[in-house]
Amino acid sequence: MTSIAFYHTLPEEQPFAEQWAEEHHVDVTCFPFELTDETLHTVDGFDGISYKQRFRPSNNPDFYRKLHDDYGIRQIALRSAGIDSIDVKAANEHGIRITNVPSYSPSAVAQLALTHILQLLRHVPQYRERNTHQDFAATGLMSRELSELTVGIIGVGRIGSTLARMLHALGVTVLGNDIRERNDLDGIITFTSKDDLLARADVVSMHTYLDETTYHLMDAHRFAQMKPTAIFINASRGPIVDTQALIDALQRHEIAAAGLDVIEGEATLFGQTLKPGEPTGNPAYDTLAAMPNVVITPHIAFFTDIAVRNMAQQSLNDALTIIQGGTSEHEIHLD
Ligand code: NAD
Repeated sequence: MTSIAFYHTLPEEQPFAEQWAEEHHVDVTCFPFELTDETLHTVDGFDGISYKQRFRPSNNPDFYRKLHDDYGIRQIALRSAGIDSIDVKAANEHGIRITNVPSYSPSAVAQLALTHILQLLRHVPQYRERNTHQDFAATGLMSRELSELTVGIIGVGRIGSTLARMLHALGVTVLGNDIRERNDLDGIITFTSKDDLLARADVVSMHTYLDETTYHLMDAHRFAQMKPTAIFINASRGPIVDTQALIDALQRHEIAAAGLDVIEGEATLFGQTLKPGEPTGNPAYDTLAAMPNVVITPHIAFFTDIAVRNMAQQSLNDALTIIQGGTSEHEIHLD
């Protein structure tokens, strides 16, 4: 029977992996740990690999040689859209093909961005803060309504366009900015420059991918262009935002609030359970988390039943296809 090692399994993923295994008559073994140099030997006897992890398994290209030559592995199916957790070039050079799950649920991420927008619009964190002091007054926290808002979406791809449709349905005026033109959103979104979007938007929501062109796309200059009443949302990748510039903008009241699902340096913090009082090791996180006008979730925008099922089962489909000698539309081809 074909066998696949399913690394770094979340308890929520396991039933989906097991269901798929039963339906496809494949042995899927769920390991709780990540694939690393230290755990490499556990792949012995398996035909393929599925993983989703925060770090590359190894920085040593010999890792991929060993996987292929010593253990006969020909593919790794990532359960993420991002491919930063693998050295695709080194893997390919050693005959290992890589697939990802590019679109497991744009709605999941768009809905979390919308959640952050609504919480900040209606001052939920500030009310929670007041409640902890037995203060149940509403003075000073009057909200605006969605129908009055202009939301600017930077990066109108799968997730950005899904959010645009949701916001449009709720009566929001939606501006968009992208480096690519698209004309399937007429009547839903008005495309404009970043300068215009930042100046006009009551909410700015980031949905670009992370690469060298989008690193610190939101910097001090960009934050200074926003309205002092504006809400800033980032559910894409932490390094798209210069975190210190965001902190400065909030402290100088250049913007009003922020909702973050991602933050620079999150890899050693999000997903962990610290002991009470244990330092987070991320001073920028500490500063932001102490602000009553900031909402932070630990990179969980993807974490819905539909997304988790799609990630698990699509990666297993791709693993099996490649093990059986087929091709997958999700294979990563470097130019
Ligand atoms: P996508 O590739 O479909 O869309 C990204 C869009 O950004 C594209 O349309 C692209 O043209 C645009 N873009 C790139 N550079 C730009 C720039 N400089 N200015 C304006 N637009 C630019 O990607 P997607 O699937 O919609 O994902 C968007 C982001 O969400 C990615 O960063 C992804 O890693 C992140 N994400 C986060 C989570 C989470 O759990 N928080 C889950 C999934 C995806």
